[in-house]
Amino acid sequence: MRRCATGRLPIIDDEVYMTLASPSGGGTTNHGDTGAEPARLKFSGSDLFIRELRKRVDAYFVRTGKSKRDCPQMYFKTATILAWFLSSYLLLLFCAPHWWLSVPLAVILGLSVAAIGFNIQHDGGHRAYSNHQWVNKLMSLTLDLMGGSSYMWDWKHNSIHHTYPNIDGHDDDINMGFLGRLAPQQRRLGFHRYQGIYLWFLYGFISIKWHLIDDFYQVGRGRIGEHKIPRPKGKDLAIFIAGKVVFFSMAFGIPMLLHPWYDVLMIYGLAAFVSGVVLSVVFQLAHCVGEAEFPSPVYVEGVGERMQTDWAIHQVQTTVDFARGNRLLCWFVGGLNFQIEHHLFHKICHIHYPALSKLVEETCHEFGVRYAAQKTFVSAVASHFHWLVEMGKPVEIGGN
Ligand SMILES: [Zn+2]
Repeated sequence: MRRCATGRLPIIDDEVYMTLASPSGGGTTNHGDTGAEPARLKFSGSDLFIRELRKRVDAYFVRTGKSKRDCPQMYFKTATILAWFLSSYLLLLFCAPHWWLSVPLAVILGLSVAAIGFNIQHDGGHRAYSNHQWVNKLMSLTLDLMGGSSYMWDWKHNSIHHTYPNIDGHDDDINMGFLGRLAPQQRRLGFHRYQGIYLWFLYGFISIKWHLIDDFYQVGRGRIGEHKIPRPKGKDLAIFIAGKVVFFSMAFGIPMLLHPWYDVLMIYGLAAFVSGVVLSVVFQLAHCVGEAEFPSPVYVEGVGERMQTDWAIHQVQTTVDFARGNRLLCWFVGGLNFQIEHHLFHKICHIHYPALSKLVEETCHEFGVRYAAQKTFVSAVASHFHWLVEMGKPVEIGGN
Protein backbone atom coordinates (compact mmCIF):
# COMPACT_ATOMS: atom_id res chain seq x y z
CA MET A 1 0.00 0.00 0.00
CA ARG A 2 1.28 3.43 -0.83
CA ARG A 3 1.82 5.72 2.09
CA CYS A 4 0.25 9.11 2.51
CA ALA A 5 2.63 12.03 2.92
CA THR A 6 0.36 15.02 3.00
CA GLY A 7 0.97 18.58 4.03
CA ARG A 8 -1.69 20.04 6.33
CA LEU A 9 -4.27 17.39 7.03
CA PRO A 10 -7.97 17.95 7.33
CA ILE A 11 -9.81 18.05 10.59
CA ILE A 12 -13.19 16.56 9.90
CA ASP A 13 -16.10 17.30 12.14
CA ASP A 14 -19.84 17.43 12.09
CA GLU A 15 -19.90 21.11 11.20
CA VAL A 16 -17.67 20.99 8.13
CA TYR A 17 -18.70 17.55 7.03
CA MET A 18 -20.90 18.76 4.21
CA THR A 19 -17.90 19.38 1.99
CA LEU A 20 -16.81 15.81 2.31
CA ALA A 21 -17.13 12.85 -0.01
CA SER A 22 -19.37 13.65 -2.90
CA PRO A 23 -21.14 10.65 -4.40
CA SER A 24 -18.47 10.57 -7.07
CA GLY A 25 -15.85 10.50 -4.40
CA GLY A 26 -14.33 13.82 -5.38
CA GLY A 27 -15.05 15.70 -2.19
CA THR A 28 -12.55 17.80 -0.33
CA THR A 29 -11.94 18.05 3.37
CA ASN A 30 -11.06 21.65 3.91
CA HIS A 31 -11.37 22.87 7.44
CA GLY A 32 -12.32 26.50 7.64
CA ASP A 33 -10.40 27.47 10.76
CA THR A 34 -7.14 25.68 10.03
CA GLY A 35 -6.52 26.34 6.37
CA ALA A 36 -6.25 22.62 5.83
CA GLU A 37 -5.33 21.20 2.46
CA PRO A 38 -7.33 18.35 0.98
CA ALA A 39 -6.30 14.90 2.11
CA ARG A 40 -4.50 12.65 -0.34
CA LEU A 41 -6.68 9.79 0.80
CA LYS A 42 -10.31 10.47 0.09
CA PHE A 43 -13.51 8.70 0.98
CA SER A 44 -16.24 7.67 -1.44
CA GLY A 45 -19.93 7.07 -1.47
CA SER A 46 -23.08 8.92 -0.59
CA ASP A 47 -23.25 11.26 2.41
CA LEU A 48 -26.98 10.70 2.96
CA PHE A 49 -26.31 8.82 6.21
CA ILE A 50 -24.44 11.64 7.95
CA ARG A 51 -26.81 14.30 6.60
CA GLU A 52 -29.78 12.49 8.09
CA LEU A 53 -27.91 11.86 11.33
CA ARG A 54 -26.94 15.50 11.71
CA LYS A 55 -30.53 16.54 11.08
CA ARG A 56 -31.72 14.24 13.88
CA VAL A 57 -29.00 15.34 16.29
CA ASP A 58 -29.73 19.02 15.63
CA ALA A 59 -33.44 18.32 16.17
CA TYR A 60 -32.57 16.68 19.51
CA PHE A 61 -30.82 19.84 20.71
CA VAL A 62 -33.69 22.06 19.52
CA ARG A 63 -36.28 19.77 21.18
CA THR A 64 -34.49 19.54 24.52
CA GLY A 65 -33.14 23.10 24.58
CA LYS A 66 -29.76 21.74 25.62
CA SER A 67 -26.51 23.34 24.54
CA LYS A 68 -23.95 21.34 22.55
CA ARG A 69 -21.13 22.99 24.51
CA ASP A 70 -20.64 25.11 27.64
CA CYS A 71 -22.55 22.61 29.77
CA PRO A 72 -22.57 23.52 33.51
CA GLN A 73 -21.87 19.85 34.39
CA MET A 74 -18.56 20.08 32.53
CA TYR A 75 -17.36 23.06 34.54
CA PHE A 76 -18.26 21.24 37.76
CA LYS A 77 -16.59 18.05 36.51
CA THR A 78 -13.46 20.01 35.57
CA ALA A 79 -13.20 21.55 39.05
CA THR A 80 -13.70 18.11 40.66
CA ILE A 81 -11.02 16.39 38.55
CA LEU A 82 -8.51 19.21 38.94
CA ALA A 83 -9.06 19.17 42.72
CA TRP A 84 -8.51 15.38 42.64
CA PHE A 85 -5.24 15.84 40.73
CA LEU A 86 -3.96 18.73 42.82
CA SER A 87 -4.79 17.16 46.17
CA SER A 88 -3.08 13.85 45.28
CA TYR A 89 -0.03 15.74 43.96
CA LEU A 90 0.26 17.93 47.07
CA LEU A 91 -0.32 14.99 49.42
CA LEU A 92 2.48 13.09 47.66
CA LEU A 93 4.74 16.10 47.89
CA PHE A 94 4.19 17.01 51.53
CA CYS A 95 2.32 14.27 53.41
CA ALA A 96 3.54 10.87 52.25
CA PRO A 97 6.72 9.93 54.10
CA HIS A 98 6.12 6.16 53.83
CA TRP A 99 5.85 3.90 50.77
CA TRP A 100 2.50 2.44 51.93
CA LEU A 101 1.08 5.93 51.59
CA SER A 102 3.00 7.20 48.58
CA VAL A 103 2.35 4.12 46.39
CA PRO A 104 -1.48 4.29 46.55
CA LEU A 105 -1.29 8.07 46.17
CA ALA A 106 0.82 7.65 43.01
CA VAL A 107 -1.86 5.30 41.62
CA ILE A 108 -4.56 7.86 42.49
CA LEU A 109 -2.49 10.61 40.85
CA GLY A 110 -2.07 8.48 37.69
CA LEU A 111 -5.84 7.95 37.54
CA SER A 112 -6.46 11.69 37.93
CA VAL A 113 -4.07 12.37 35.04
CA ALA A 114 -6.04 9.91 32.88
CA ALA A 115 -9.29 11.61 33.95
CA ILE A 116 -7.91 15.02 32.94
CA GLY A 117 -6.95 13.57 29.56
CA PHE A 118 -10.28 11.84 28.92
CA ASN A 119 -12.48 14.69 30.07
CA ILE A 120 -10.93 18.14 30.14
CA GLN A 121 -8.14 18.02 27.59
CA HIS A 122 -9.96 15.78 25.11
CA ASP A 123 -13.10 17.94 25.00
CA GLY A 124 -11.03 21.14 24.92
CA GLY A 125 -8.73 19.80 22.19
CA HIS A 126 -11.73 18.83 20.07
CA ARG A 127 -13.30 22.29 20.63
CA ALA A 128 -16.23 20.45 22.20
CA TYR A 129 -15.93 22.08 25.61
CA SER A 130 -17.08 25.60 24.90
CA ASN A 131 -18.32 27.96 22.21
CA HIS A 132 -15.44 30.25 23.22
CA GLN A 133 -12.19 29.15 21.57
CA TRP A 134 -10.05 30.57 24.37
CA VAL A 135 -11.84 28.27 26.84
CA ASN A 136 -11.21 25.26 24.57
CA LYS A 137 -7.57 26.30 24.23
CA LEU A 138 -7.20 26.69 27.99
CA MET A 139 -8.68 23.24 28.63
CA SER A 140 -6.51 21.64 25.93
CA LEU A 141 -3.42 23.11 27.63
CA THR A 142 -3.98 20.75 30.57
CA LEU A 143 -2.20 18.21 28.36
CA ASP A 144 0.97 20.32 28.43
CA LEU A 145 0.67 20.32 32.21
CA MET A 146 0.50 16.50 32.12
CA GLY A 147 3.63 16.09 29.99
CA GLY A 148 2.21 15.86 26.46
CA SER A 149 2.09 18.59 23.85
CA SER A 150 -1.37 19.91 22.96
CA TYR A 151 0.09 21.10 19.63
CA MET A 152 1.29 17.62 18.67
CA TRP A 153 -1.90 16.01 19.98
CA ASP A 154 -3.95 18.22 17.71
CA TRP A 155 -2.09 16.74 14.75
CA LYS A 156 -1.83 13.17 15.93
CA HIS A 157 -5.31 12.71 17.34
CA ASN A 158 -7.52 15.41 15.88
CA SER A 159 -6.20 15.51 12.35
CA ILE A 160 -4.77 12.05 11.75
CA HIS A 161 -6.58 9.56 13.96
CA HIS A 162 -10.02 11.13 13.61
CA THR A 163 -9.73 11.30 9.85
CA TYR A 164 -8.31 7.83 9.22
CA PRO A 165 -9.22 5.50 12.11
CA ASN A 166 -7.95 1.94 11.64
CA ILE A 167 -6.39 2.61 8.24
CA ASP A 168 -2.94 1.07 8.40
CA GLY A 169 -0.25 3.49 7.30
CA HIS A 170 -2.45 6.49 8.03
CA ASP A 171 -3.72 6.08 11.62
CA ASP A 172 -0.72 6.39 13.92
CA ASP A 173 -2.76 5.09 16.88
CA ILE A 174 -2.63 1.55 15.49
CA ASN A 175 1.09 1.75 14.83
CA MET A 176 3.15 0.12 17.57
CA GLY A 177 6.13 -0.44 15.30
CA PHE A 178 7.67 -3.88 15.57
CA LEU A 179 6.41 -4.29 19.16
CA GLY A 180 2.86 -5.26 18.24
CA ARG A 181 0.60 -6.19 15.37
CA LEU A 182 -2.74 -4.40 15.75
CA ALA A 183 -4.08 -4.54 12.18
CA PRO A 184 -4.29 -7.41 9.69
CA GLN A 185 -2.29 -5.42 7.11
CA GLN A 186 0.72 -5.20 9.46
CA ARG A 187 3.69 -7.55 9.32
CA ARG A 188 3.64 -10.37 11.82
CA LEU A 189 6.77 -11.28 13.74
CA GLY A 190 7.27 -14.51 15.70
CA PHE A 191 7.08 -12.96 19.16
CA HIS A 192 3.71 -11.36 18.37
CA ARG A 193 2.22 -14.72 19.42
CA TYR A 194 2.72 -13.44 22.99
CA GLN A 195 1.36 -9.91 22.42
CA GLY A 196 -1.94 -10.80 24.10
CA ILE A 197 0.08 -10.89 27.31
CA TYR A 198 2.97 -8.45 27.01
CA LEU A 199 1.22 -5.52 25.27
CA TRP A 200 -0.88 -4.76 28.36
CA PHE A 201 2.36 -4.19 30.22
CA LEU A 202 3.90 -2.12 27.42
CA TYR A 203 0.85 0.16 27.38
CA GLY A 204 2.09 1.40 30.75
CA PHE A 205 5.22 2.82 29.15
CA ILE A 206 3.35 4.79 26.49
CA SER A 207 2.96 7.87 28.73
CA ILE A 208 6.62 7.75 29.77
CA LYS A 209 7.72 7.47 26.13
CA TRP A 210 5.36 10.30 25.22
CA HIS A 211 6.76 12.57 27.98
CA LEU A 212 10.43 11.85 27.40
CA ILE A 213 10.79 10.96 23.71
CA ASP A 214 7.84 11.18 21.29
CA ASP A 215 7.04 14.90 21.28
CA PHE A 216 10.70 15.90 20.95
CA TYR A 217 11.40 13.25 18.31
CA GLN A 218 8.32 14.10 16.24
CA VAL A 219 8.92 17.85 16.40
CA GLY A 220 12.56 17.30 15.41
CA ARG A 221 11.54 15.06 12.53
CA GLY A 222 8.56 17.19 11.46
CA ARG A 223 6.55 14.01 11.05
CA ILE A 224 4.06 11.83 12.91
CA GLY A 225 4.36 8.38 11.43
CA GLU A 226 4.15 8.86 7.67
CA HIS A 227 2.44 12.24 7.97
CA LYS A 228 4.44 15.38 7.48
CA ILE A 229 3.51 18.10 9.99
CA PRO A 230 4.70 21.67 10.45
CA ARG A 231 6.98 22.19 13.44
CA PRO A 232 5.54 24.53 16.10
CA LYS A 233 6.47 28.17 15.60
CA GLY A 234 5.88 31.44 17.46
CA LYS A 235 3.16 31.09 20.09
CA ASP A 236 2.86 27.33 19.52
CA LEU A 237 6.57 26.87 20.11
CA ALA A 238 6.46 29.06 23.24
CA ILE A 239 3.60 26.91 24.62
CA PHE A 240 5.45 23.72 23.69
CA ILE A 241 8.58 24.82 25.57
CA ALA A 242 6.72 26.34 28.54
CA GLY A 243 4.62 23.17 28.85
CA LYS A 244 7.71 20.98 28.99
CA VAL A 245 9.36 23.27 31.57
CA VAL A 246 6.25 23.23 33.79
CA PHE A 247 5.82 19.47 33.47
CA PHE A 248 9.45 18.58 34.18
CA SER A 249 9.44 20.98 37.14
CA MET A 250 6.28 19.41 38.58
CA ALA A 251 7.28 15.81 37.89
CA PHE A 252 10.97 15.98 38.82
CA GLY A 253 12.36 19.40 39.78
CA ILE A 254 10.12 20.40 42.70
CA PRO A 255 9.76 16.87 44.17
CA MET A 256 13.56 16.42 44.11
CA LEU A 257 13.96 19.48 46.33
CA LEU A 258 12.04 17.60 49.03
CA HIS A 259 12.65 13.89 48.38
CA PRO A 260 15.51 11.61 47.26
CA TRP A 261 15.80 11.40 43.44
CA TYR A 262 15.18 7.63 43.36
CA ASP A 263 11.89 8.04 45.26
CA VAL A 264 10.81 10.76 42.84
CA LEU A 265 11.65 8.60 39.80
CA MET A 266 9.79 5.65 41.26
CA ILE A 267 6.65 7.69 42.01
CA TYR A 268 6.79 9.34 38.58
CA GLY A 269 7.20 5.92 36.94
CA LEU A 270 4.26 4.44 38.82
CA ALA A 271 1.87 7.36 38.20
CA ALA A 272 2.85 7.51 34.51
CA PHE A 273 2.50 3.72 34.19
CA VAL A 274 -1.04 3.82 35.61
CA SER A 275 -2.10 6.69 33.36
CA GLY A 276 -0.49 4.97 30.35
CA VAL A 277 -2.33 1.68 30.88
CA VAL A 278 -5.68 3.36 31.52
CA LEU A 279 -5.46 5.81 28.59
CA SER A 280 -4.24 3.14 26.15
CA VAL A 281 -6.74 0.47 27.12
CA VAL A 282 -9.75 2.81 26.85
CA PHE A 283 -8.72 3.89 23.36
CA GLN A 284 -7.83 0.33 22.28
CA LEU A 285 -11.23 -1.01 23.36
CA ALA A 286 -12.88 1.27 20.83
CA HIS A 287 -10.81 0.33 17.79
CA CYS A 288 -8.56 -2.69 18.30
CA VAL A 289 -11.21 -5.34 18.77
CA GLY A 290 -12.66 -8.05 16.58
CA GLU A 291 -15.89 -6.11 16.04
CA ALA A 292 -14.07 -3.18 14.41
CA GLU A 293 -13.03 -3.18 10.77
CA PHE A 294 -9.61 -2.36 9.33
CA PRO A 295 -10.35 -1.34 5.75
CA SER A 296 -7.65 -0.60 3.19
CA PRO A 297 -7.77 2.04 0.49
CA VAL A 298 -8.01 0.95 -3.11
CA TYR A 299 -6.03 2.45 -5.94
CA VAL A 300 -8.19 3.92 -8.70
CA GLU A 301 -6.43 4.60 -11.98
CA GLY A 302 -6.21 8.31 -12.67
CA VAL A 303 -7.66 9.19 -9.27
CA GLY A 304 -5.30 7.72 -6.72
CA GLU A 305 -5.97 6.06 -3.41
CA ARG A 306 -9.39 6.18 -1.89
CA MET A 307 -11.58 4.44 0.61
CA GLN A 308 -14.60 2.60 -0.67
CA THR A 309 -17.04 4.02 1.88
CA ASP A 310 -18.30 7.37 3.00
CA TRP A 311 -16.28 8.99 5.82
CA ALA A 312 -19.08 8.77 8.42
CA ILE A 313 -19.80 5.12 7.66
CA HIS A 314 -16.08 4.45 7.95
CA GLN A 315 -16.10 5.96 11.46
CA VAL A 316 -18.92 3.65 12.55
CA GLN A 317 -17.41 0.55 10.99
CA THR A 318 -14.02 1.08 12.59
CA THR A 319 -15.28 1.96 16.07
CA VAL A 320 -17.04 0.08 18.87
CA ASP A 321 -18.90 1.38 21.94
CA PHE A 322 -18.72 -0.45 25.26
CA ALA A 323 -20.43 -0.56 28.67
CA ARG A 324 -23.02 1.99 27.61
CA GLY A 325 -25.04 1.45 30.78
CA ASN A 326 -22.11 2.01 33.16
CA ARG A 327 -22.51 5.60 34.36
CA LEU A 328 -19.50 5.65 36.66
CA LEU A 329 -17.20 4.41 33.90
CA CYS A 330 -18.76 6.89 31.47
CA TRP A 331 -18.05 9.73 33.94
CA PHE A 332 -14.42 8.69 34.38
CA VAL A 333 -13.58 8.05 30.70
CA GLY A 334 -15.24 11.25 29.49
CA GLY A 335 -17.88 9.43 27.44
CA LEU A 336 -15.20 7.59 25.47
CA ASN A 337 -17.10 4.35 25.95
CA PHE A 338 -19.36 6.02 23.33
CA GLN A 339 -16.59 6.33 20.75
CA ILE A 340 -18.89 5.91 17.75
CA GLU A 341 -20.75 9.04 18.82
CA HIS A 342 -17.46 10.76 19.58
CA HIS A 343 -16.06 9.99 16.12
CA LEU A 344 -19.20 11.25 14.41
CA PHE A 345 -19.74 14.33 16.58
CA HIS A 346 -16.46 15.19 18.22
CA LYS A 347 -17.33 18.87 18.48
CA ILE A 348 -20.22 18.09 20.81
CA CYS A 349 -19.51 17.88 24.55
CA HIS A 350 -19.17 14.27 25.70
CA ILE A 351 -21.89 14.50 28.32
CA HIS A 352 -24.45 14.27 25.48
CA TYR A 353 -23.09 11.01 24.02
CA PRO A 354 -25.39 8.61 25.95
CA ALA A 355 -28.48 10.41 24.64
CA LEU A 356 -27.05 10.71 21.11
CA SER A 357 -26.17 7.01 21.00
CA LYS A 358 -29.86 6.09 20.76
CA LEU A 359 -30.28 8.34 17.71
CA VAL A 360 -27.06 7.06 16.13
CA GLU A 361 -27.90 3.39 16.66
CA GLU A 362 -31.40 3.85 15.29
CA THR A 363 -30.15 5.69 12.20
CA CYS A 364 -27.46 3.06 11.62
CA HIS A 365 -30.08 0.33 11.64
CA GLU A 366 -32.24 2.24 9.17
CA PHE A 367 -29.31 2.76 6.80
CA GLY A 368 -28.02 -0.79 7.16
CA VAL A 369 -24.78 0.38 8.81
CA ARG A 370 -23.46 -2.10 11.36
CA TYR A 371 -23.41 -0.54 14.87
CA ALA A 372 -21.31 -2.48 17.39
CA ALA A 373 -21.34 -2.14 21.16
CA GLN A 374 -19.87 -4.41 23.83
CA LYS A 375 -22.26 -4.83 26.74
CA THR A 376 -19.71 -4.47 29.55
CA PHE A 377 -16.21 -3.18 30.18
CA VAL A 378 -15.04 -6.73 30.91
CA SER A 379 -16.40 -8.08 27.61
CA ALA A 380 -14.67 -5.19 25.79
CA VAL A 381 -11.37 -6.05 27.51
CA ALA A 382 -11.85 -9.70 26.54
CA SER A 383 -12.52 -8.65 22.96
CA HIS A 384 -9.29 -6.63 22.82
CA PHE A 385 -7.37 -9.58 24.27
CA HIS A 386 -8.83 -11.94 21.65
CA TRP A 387 -7.96 -9.47 18.89
CA LEU A 388 -4.34 -9.27 20.07
CA VAL A 389 -4.16 -13.07 20.18
CA GLU A 390 -5.71 -13.33 16.72
CA MET A 391 -3.28 -10.77 15.25
CA GLY A 392 -0.38 -12.61 16.89
CA LYS A 393 -1.17 -15.92 15.18
CA PRO A 394 0.88 -17.03 12.17
CA VAL A 395 -0.54 -15.57 8.97
CA GLU A 396 -1.99 -18.19 6.67
CA ILE A 397 -0.66 -18.25 3.12
CA GLY A 398 -3.20 -16.51 0.94
CA GLY A 399 -4.68 -14.73 3.97
CA ASN A 400 -3.74 -11.35 5.46
ZN1 LIG B 1 -11.00 12.18 20.04
